[in-house]
Amino acid sequence: MERRLASAMKILVAEDDDVSRFMTVKAVQALGYECIAAADGEAAWQLYLREGADTVISDWMMPGMDGVELCKRIRRMDDRAYTYFIILTALSEREYRLEGMRAGADDYLAKPLDRDELHLRLIAAQRVTTLHRKLQVQARELERLNREFFESGRVDALTGIANRLRMQEDLRAIAARVERYGDGFSLVLFDIDHFKLYNDTLGHVAGDEVLRAVARALAGACRSGDTVYRYGGEEFLAILGTPNLALAAIIVDRMRAAVEAACIRHPKSDTSPFVTVSAGVASLVADGGGTVADALRRADGALFRAKQAGRNRFVVQADDLDDALR
Ligand code: GH3
Ligand code: MG
Ligand code: MG
Ligand code: MG
Repeated sequence: MERRLASAMKILVAEDDDVSRFMTVKAVQALGYECIAAADGEAAWQLYLREGADTVISDWMMPGMDGVELCKRIRRMDDRAYTYFIILTALSEREYRLEGMRAGADDYLAKPLDRDELHLRLIAAQRVTTLHRKLQVQARELERLNREFFESGRVDALTGIANRLRMQEDLRAIAARVERYGDGFSLVLFDIDHFKLYNDTLGHVAGDEVLRAVARALAGACRSGDTVYRYGGEEFLAILGTPNLALAAIIVDRMRAAVEAACIRHPKSDTSPFVTVSAGVASLVADGGGTVADALRRADGALFRAKQAGRNRFVVQADDLDDALR
């Protein structure tokens, strides 16, 4: 057990004195650990960057970069797994031990090296690095779960498309883009035609299936940068990345036609033998002076007119286009 644990740790020895380095490496290897070595601070730093190490045993005084500086650099690499740092100090340097610990060292070893002392220090190092690795795995798992909860909290449970929370966040984001950068969008409200009749005739469960199919058809027919949200009940909102209402009209009619083309039989509709949607379109642009709420109101007004005009159609609500269409 001890042996298996020991071999799981990789140790970097930094020591400029050839004899000391040789002895330390031999002692570490005799305890069953994997060992790499460097003859000065800079070489140790490069080796650490290239190969990594679970524990560093570093001499204090070395030409160029000393052990304390090496320790400080390693501590600044906070994206890596924790590295246990042991500093080697000669008897004459004992007053510097505190400075080493303050620089981030975890422990110190006196020179000349005592093998039993080394063994004890490496058992502690193993314990600490193993614990850090476990915590790191747990932290990553928590981050993953957080992301998952974040995502699932923004998906409509019935239809699998973006929900109202996500819609509100995205509407806030595009409102900021309109204001700051002068970007423009189109907002489209869709509403299923005679859906109450469908539910009343075929039941709520069949109705739910229709909501899923309509969501699929709408999302599948818009462009990749556009998003469809379940606005609530049997209503959907689409945010189109263009304020050009002539272009929006083409996209919206394609979305409307995609629902009809799903050929879901509607036994009671006087509009079509199939389930259909009506839509109202409005633009959201900076110089139009409108807010998101304002654009939604105009889209809703247009939707109402599409219903009045016979359903299974869209109406564009915009002053300029109103004139153009007249
Ligand atoms: P119109 O063409 O004028 O839109 O008529 P409609 O019957 O679709 O409009 P209305 O607003 O009267 O009815 C909407 C219906 O949508 C009422 C409700 O039964 C149904 N509905 C809303 N949410 C759900 C849902 O989550 N599942 C199911 N199955 N039905 C829903
Ligand atoms: Mg030295
Ligand atoms: Mg409705
Ligand atoms: Mg409806």
